[in-house]
Amino acid sequence: MTASWRSEAACLDMPDAEDVFFPASDVPSAYERARAVCAGCPVAALCLADALAVEPRAKRYGMFGGKTPDERRALAAKCGDRAGTEEGYQRHRAAGERPCHACTGAHGAAIRYAS
Ligand code: SF4
Ligand SMILES: [Zn+2]
Repeated sequence: MTASWRSEAACLDMPDAEDVFFPASDVPSAYERARAVCAGCPVAALCLADALAVEPRAKRYGMFGGKTPDERRALAAKCGDRAGTEEGYQRHRAAGERPCHACTGAHGAAIRYAS
């Protein structure tokens, strides 16, 4: 997993990040502060793509890329098992679709952080 984008994360070094991004409750209002931080994060698309690509499908938790677990579940359901990956991006293209936000993020990461 490429992790170099993490050094640009808006949540980097937030002392209360665990409470903010992994609230005790999963109701949407519990994520308000996290959503505000993510909204100003320059690597949100990459964060979202990474979460979708690596987190267990049956056990999503915490805020990543400005999306709650329920929102990521909805994205994955819409896009398929390769949501948020370069493969997903290529599948969209092959199908003549506009790539979704998560797959576009993964594609951007593939280009930007290719080594
Ligand atoms: S999108 Fe949100 S959770 Fe992801 S790196 Fe940025 S601030 Fe952190
Ligand atoms: Zn997609």
